[in-house]
Amino acid sequence: MAVIKKNVTVMEIAKKNSPLNLKWDAKEQQLKAYAQTNHVPIILDEGLAFLETLIRLHKPKKILEIGTAIGYSAIRMHRVCGSHITTIERDADMFHLATLNIQNFGYEKNIKLIFKDALECYETLKNETFDMIFIDAAKAQYTKFFNLYAPLLSSGGLIICDNMFFHGLVEEDSSNYSRSVRGLVRKLSSFHNFLLENEKYTTSIFNIGDGMAVSIKKD
Ligand code: SAH
Ligand code: MG
Repeated sequence: MAVIKKNVTVMEIAKKNSPLNLKWDAKEQQLKAYAQTNHVPIILDEGLAFLETLIRLHKPKKILEIGTAIGYSAIRMHRVCGSHITTIERDADMFHLATLNIQNFGYEKNIKLIFKDALECYETLKNETFDMIFIDAAKAQYTKFFNLYAPLLSSGGLIICDNMFFHGLVEEDSSNYSRSVRGLVRKLSSFHNFLLENEKYTTSIFNIGDGMAVSIKKD
């Protein structure tokens, strides 16, 4: 590999300046700014560019999202190619903000918001199918979300999971962290194994954004 300066490789420069095909209009910029000021953990730019690329390729008619927050990723996912989004949020304040934001974009018909714990709304959704599922909620529950909603995935469908590295803590030494963080990291690590060993899906976990898993249903 070519070395440009001492210890700086072409690959490192490419990663640092990684050109992403992302543009934000004024309303989207407001959502991003709100998230930043209020510490709402919206998807990182690199993860978003990856997610949007997958949507451009797969062209899902219907997407299920677990973890709406303020609606940023739902709005972006819808805008790629008009996919209908169903998104679940359990926090009342987040749900309220997402409702206002989706109204502000005029997407009430395109983005359906559900105010519930995702572990409790399978019954509401059990007669629907989705071409893509985006899991981006409580990290300790990823295996449960996956098992609960995978039956609703159409054949050849994708399940995308965000924050697979949990801010870099997975696969690092987390012994200095609190018990609850260590517990979370342990659960997320076992979810890695669950995905990689699951023979019904072809899964790769990418070092993109905060770590993104893509699982493609085999049948
Ligand atoms: N997808 C959003 C960010 C979601 S942040 C974006 O990128 O723009 C994660 C959200 O999931 C939080 O708002 C949290 O309240 C919600 N959440 C966590 N566990 C949940 C659960 N079991 N059911 C529904 N929502 C959940
Ligand atoms: Mg996330």
